Amino acid sequence: MKIESRLAQIGSTKEPETGAVSFPIYHATAYRHPQLGQSTGFDYTRTRNPTRSVLEEAIAQLESGDAGFAFSSGMAALQTIFALFSQGDHLLVSLDLYGGTYRLLEKIMSRFGVTATYVDTNDLDALEANRRPETKAVLIETPTNPLMMITDLASISAWAKTHGLTVIVDNTLLTPYFQRPLELGADIVIHSASKYLAGHNDVLAGLVVTKGKELSEQITFLQNSIGAVLGPQDCWLLMRGMKTLAIRMERHQENALTIARWLESHPLVAQVYYPGLETHPCYDIQCRQSSGNTGIFSFKVTKAAYVAPILRNLKLIFFAESLGGTESLMTYPTVQTHADIPEEIRLAVGVDDRLLRFSVGIEHADDLIADLEQALAAAQKEIDGGVLV
Ligand SMILES: *Cc1c(COP(=O)(O)O)cnc(C)c1O
Repeated sequence: MKIESRLAQIGSTKEPETGAVSFPIYHATAYRHPQLGQSTGFDYTRTRNPTRSVLEEAIAQLESGDAGFAFSSGMAALQTIFALFSQGDHLLVSLDLYGGTYRLLEKIMSRFGVTATYVDTNDLDALEANRRPETKAVLIETPTNPLMMITDLASISAWAKTHGLTVIVDNTLLTPYFQRPLELGADIVIHSASKYLAGHNDVLAGLVVTKGKELSEQITFLQNSIGAVLGPQDCWLLMRGMKTLAIRMERHQENALTIARWLESHPLVAQVYYPGLETHPCYDIQCRQSSGNTGIFSFKVTKAAYVAPILRNLKLIFFAESLGGTESLMTYPTVQTHADIPEEIRLAVGVDDRLLRFSVGIEHADDLIADLEQALAAAQKEIDGGVLV
């Protein structure tokens, strides 16, 4: 069955007793045992919950993996994955990284003796040069956020395999609708399901999918031992959101491409970072490994002074953090999502005070462009007195 059909019917055939097409929310934390030594498969909700199981099976199947796991947030999912590692272990991590992941590695995991080196994960020479005997895994975001750098997942996975490294891919920005890293050789996929999968800026959740028996058993053990699981109500909300993922992603992509092209030719815009544009340096890799593009992109204005008036003048587009929801959100990574990344690292990658990130929603593109047009014009008038420079 095609992915659109599988998404639309998540959980719809899982309740044989009543035939409910929307799988029920099981609030019970405890499950009766028939007798000593027997279980229905459900004992205590942290270990396993019927509503969560339906979600976990669905994401495992969508990502072509062997087991799925639902967590209370993307960060809880990452923390659980990092618990695979022990004191002295070392990770190679994408250079332009989600700020929260960087904070978790540098402020918390480092205290447990797990260290990370940040490299351009599309550069095999850089990866090889930074690989150590104690290196255990590669953590990749592709596209990265906010600079939309692309990693060739098949070639990095092949390289990692020859060195026995686990390949972990944060697939938040593309979702299994557009990209399935496990099919390209990765071992673990992680999602902040708070973004496109849930899709409505109203659920916080994380998902993990593993390939292979050993990793699946390890994450099963860690999920139950750490206990940062997703509650049944949120599992249901997430599944409800995922049913419309296909049509939402198509509209996000269409809007993002239209607006990225429009911004590319605007005089106040210096650069647009979007892998859907032919001008993107990794356009070919992106076309090869993904069937479409995300709905978020970043752009640099020609002067940092424009940023404040642009954000103040936007009306339809909200100045807010997060991404992947139906509503369009614009954020300023330097002071928001990426504030925890030290300035010298941010600047080296290109996250500077002229960079804005735009999570394009599913409103009509004409309305979004009209809003951008008036906000850019107002900023130009305020800063340059209306004289085009
Ligand atoms: C938001 C995000 C996270 C963190 O997920 P939460 O659900 O907010 O905890 C991790 N990775 C990426 C790429 C994200 O965008």
